[in-house]
Amino acid sequence: MRTFSIEFFPPKTPEGVTKLRDVHMQLARLNPRFFSVTFGAGGSTRDRTLETVMEIQAAGSAAAPHLSCVGSTRENLRDILATYKSHGIRHIVALRGDLPSGMAETGEFRYANELVEFIRAETGDWFEIEVAAYPEVHPQAKGYRDDLVNFKRKVDAGANAAITQYFFNPDAYFNFMDECAALGISIPIVPGIMPISNYSQLARFSSMCGAEIPRWLAKRLESYLDDTASIRAFGLDFIASLCERLLAGGAPGLHFYSMNQSALTSALWQRLDLK
Ligand code: FAD
Repeated sequence: MRTFSIEFFPPKTPEGVTKLRDVHMQLARLNPRFFSVTFGAGGSTRDRTLETVMEIQAAGSAAAPHLSCVGSTRENLRDILATYKSHGIRHIVALRGDLPSGMAETGEFRYANELVEFIRAETGDWFEIEVAAYPEVHPQAKGYRDDLVNFKRKVDAGANAAITQYFFNPDAYFNFMDECAALGISIPIVPGIMPISNYSQLARFSSMCGAEIPRWLAKRLESYLDDTASIRAFGLDFIASLCERLLAGGAPGLHFYSMNQSALTSALWQRLDLK
């Protein structure tokens, strides 16, 4: 069965909380398998992640908190896992995370595979664990091969499934899938999908997280200047066709980075007739 899911970040302001409530209500109608909620490394959003997850659950949807380990202690993470467990949360996205710039590295965990191992050691099979995958290679990786081997460490540590960083070139995903199969990795690896609404923001974000915007796509998006309506219309066509190619090529689902907005995720969902 294919799984379709949607990502939120925990809102920072009371207005953001109200808005996300509305966005969740609209997106819940699409009946995604779960909503995931990001977690700020260094503990900056710990409580807000939990509050957002609880609210989504209380409103009747399945929710999965992200949990990052960089800058955290065992004690700290044990505490968070116990809190999630006591609230009946059984699905988690386990990450290393990135510390905010200027924050010193003080944690007991260096990589996400250590976190996955820790979650399994502490809580057995209680949690369904998702991890991150990078078809275009994680920006800090030593190389393509190293990154693949490091991805396999997370699978071997007990991850049930993976969600990819977003990408715009389906070949990157298909090639990654072939390499994973060759290494004996058989967990579902769901493509992360970033709807396109604003070029400069997308370009900034992509250069930070190592997602390539193909030159022709960058030029095309640039050419719309501030014409947001055209960027969104073209972006919708382009991302819908990327999703169609991924699903036709065997992707086991899609995970939408909604950026706490409902319009583009809804439009894509309907256009693709996802169920
Ligand atoms: P890892 O898998 O630990 O990999 C990090 C780097 O270390 C890679 O270059 C890898 O090759 C290398 N590496 C891994 N293991 C080893 C090892 N054992 N020995 C040597 N090298 C190793 N960030 C947040 O802060 N909060 C979030 O909620 C969040 N959600 C995300 C959700 C998804 C689906 C994705 C794709 C990313 C998310 N991120 C989030 C970003 C993520 O935290 C960063 O990309 C981070 O830099 C790496 O996290 P990771 O879990 O992939 O790390």
